[in-house]
Amino acid sequence: MQDFSFVFPLPNGMHARPASQLEGVAARFSSAIHLHCERNGNRADAHSVLALISADIRHGDDCILQVDGADEETAFETIVHYLNNEFPHCDEALSAVSEGATTGKLPKVLAAFGVERWWSGQPVYGGLAVAPLVSFGGLKLAEGFVWPPAESAENERIKLTAALDAARKELDHQIRTTSGQTSEILSAQAGMLSDRSFATKVGEHLDQQGGNAGEAVLAVTATLSATLRAGSVYLQERVADLQDVAARIITGLYGENATSNTPVLTHPTILAATELTPGQFLALDHSHLRGIVLENGGATSHTSILARAAGIPLMVGTKGCASLATRAEAILDTRRGILLVDPAAHVSSFYQRESGRFAEAALAASTWAHLPAISADGDALPLHANVASAKDVRIAIERGAEGIGLFRTELLFMNRSAAPDEEEQVAIYTEALRHAAGHPLVIRTLDIGGDKPVPYLDLPVEPNPFLGLRGVRLYGRLSALIKTQLRALLRASVHGPLKIMVPMIACADEMSNFRTLLEQCRIALQDEGRGAGDQIAIGAMLEIPSAIFDLPEISRHADFFSIGSNDLAQYFLAADRDNPATADLGTWKHPAFIRLLKMATVSAHAAGRPIGLCGDLASRPEALPLLFALGFDSISLGGAGIAPAKITLSRITRTAADEQLAKILLAPDRAAVVSLLSTTVRGDLASGLLASELFQVISLATSKAEAINELVALVDAAGRTHDAAALEEAVWTREEAYATNFGYGFAVPHCQTAHVSEPVITLVRLAKPVAWSEGDDNLVHVALLLAMPAGENREHLRIFARLSRLIMREEFRNALEAAPDSDALLAVLADALGPVGGAAV
Ligand code: PEP
Ligand code: MG
Repeated sequence: MQDFSFVFPLPNGMHARPASQLEGVAARFSSAIHLHCERNGNRADAHSVLALISADIRHGDDCILQVDGADEETAFETIVHYLNNEFPHCDEALSAVSEGATTGKLPKVLAAFGVERWWSGQPVYGGLAVAPLVSFGGLKLAEGFVWPPAESAENERIKLTAALDAARKELDHQIRTTSGQTSEILSAQAGMLSDRSFATKVGEHLDQQGGNAGEAVLAVTATLSATLRAGSVYLQERVADLQDVAARIITGLYGENATSNTPVLTHPTILAATELTPGQFLALDHSHLRGIVLENGGATSHTSILARAAGIPLMVGTKGCASLATRAEAILDTRRGILLVDPAAHVSSFYQRESGRFAEAALAASTWAHLPAISADGDALPLHANVASAKDVRIAIERGAEGIGLFRTELLFMNRSAAPDEEEQVAIYTEALRHAAGHPLVIRTLDIGGDKPVPYLDLPVEPNPFLGLRGVRLYGRLSALIKTQLRALLRASVHGPLKIMVPMIACADEMSNFRTLLEQCRIALQDEGRGAGDQIAIGAMLEIPSAIFDLPEISRHADFFSIGSNDLAQYFLAADRDNPATADLGTWKHPAFIRLLKMATVSAHAAGRPIGLCGDLASRPEALPLLFALGFDSISLGGAGIAPAKITLSRITRTAADEQLAKILLAPDRAAVVSLLSTTVRGDLASGLLASELFQVISLATSKAEAINELVALVDAAGRTHDAAALEEAVWTREEAYATNFGYGFAVPHCQTAHVSEPVITLVRLAKPVAWSEGDDNLVHVALLLAMPAGENREHLRIFARLSRLIMREEFRNALEAAPDSDALLAVLADALGPVGGAAV
């Protein structure tokens, strides 16, 4: 036997990929080859990927390679050479995946809580979910699947070998046709699939317990998963890989219907997945779905849009999340762009309190739902909703929508095995009209293709689906399907004011062809003696830039227009809407894009046609003044955003919004637009330095982090910031430079930030004093936050200086401590501060 000692070099420890490479080298030899880890005493057979993974070997561990057998000389020499020269470099790509967990920035408030392990991502719909995490992928038997009767152990072994071979071939093919990390992860799975110990264990199970091959695979997978789950966090995360492999084998044995393609949610869940198609999203039980975190996907991909419309917090670009094992507790904080699993008790309780506050805020906003959407100076901007079903129409109207600006009908065609027939569609559209109860209802005809596949239609596989046959471009090929839809829309339209909108219009003839088709359907219905509306308005979606340049021509055939900003940005800026890597490039904040919107509204109005906007941009609170000033006749957004948008609109004046737009139209670049968006429209945020709603007489915060969080929450609840998480971060940045404990039990955290538009003071009186910096015995029991806008700072400094001087005065401190309620606190502060810097009091 020969021994070789070495220090384990790989940053992520022994995970699937290096294990499969080492196993590949060991497989060339017949000698017994083992790896011994001195730290934990584990000894792993190097001929088994799973044994190597399960040994839980970590970076820096002292290890011994042991080789014993007939070909030990060459085996030893080869493996030692491999360990010294190739093994240390075999892990870079995958380490990037794992580090995805920690490459984003940890919000400082969480750092203050000592959070060490987190996953970051790109928030798509801001919110908070606290629930168990279920990772999707891996192994789930389909509901109702029954194992076929078992044959002899020998026959089952033969079937197993065939299924393993088939799965290996399939994986090899996928490895060859993918690249980068995907291909490497698949290679690691291929290593697991070829693992000697896995096949041996399944065989032993068949011999000892009988049953069929699938049951044996399931049982061995369960045992191995339990072993991995008991290991380090990294090992726990390999469970999903193992289960993916097992799912492949079972699918190979019993066909596609044996395993489940969509998770069945039975309790409140945060779903983690590599990706989720719109169809899978719709098939989920939304009453249990608390949040979604995806490795792939972009802010305006269709799944994201649906999640936002349903008000489900969603984060994308979170590498590694789908490999997480199911966890009893997770927190998805999409406002801060963070996923936490198995949080410490104090972190959980922090989030429970935040969650309670969110619920209160949502309740308060709902009182605005049925007020008209008008600006501070009385101009209306009708707020419509985007929906995907007749039921959504009802929910949107209940949430205060003044109409439906976009009913995406393609979603009615997804996640089923055949298209809905004419009768089914008539029923859906009629029900939608009934729920709309006389409000405008715009139904968009089929927009399939791109990221909205409909498998039963057998559409061509295209190299660039977004640039291929999509939306109206497919109507020629799918003429029976589209005619059925048009007939159903015409028949339903006798029940109310229905408008039809056509997706992906690029030029005038597409629009005129569509009109002709609709007219043919109407005449056919008439000939059949059926009723069909004849006053239907027909609109064109403006989502391909050429349509805006061709608008005067198109308007000869279109009664109204609606900007699809998701696609318009994608096509105008050449940035894939589904790709997180191009999210910054495809932003609506590009000044040229805003100029394009201006061109569209001017051109539509010159042609005497109304124009709306129904892309994701309509949901962005910071864009509302801009859309108002651009002259849209309505905008259409997710139902959950309607009431908050009404509040924001009620604070905007036409003059302020116009001023902002004028500057933005002249902006030289995106950075300038971002800064103008955050600073120039003061009207969209509430104003005033002091107000009783900004003070909390008794706070139960138990730490500095909680106290700062509550101070920021008061700013947020009073509608004085669009981004509480960013404001909180700004406070902590200041705090890092200089802890703001003033002594006398008072702290004055403060910051200058683009996330408020006017100076604002909030205050909390703590029931239990808290330490403000480590080792500081002067506990704090009153904390005042002074948040000041970025930019010119003389006025800000005066407020800060005045506040500081006041706190030195015992009389002032006593008055603050004794004030019985928030009105009394307001009186003390207003009296003491006086007309500082002209700020409204
Ligand atoms: C858009 O492109 O902005 C739009 C509303 O259509 P969809 O998102 O369905 O492509
Ligand atoms: Mg579109």
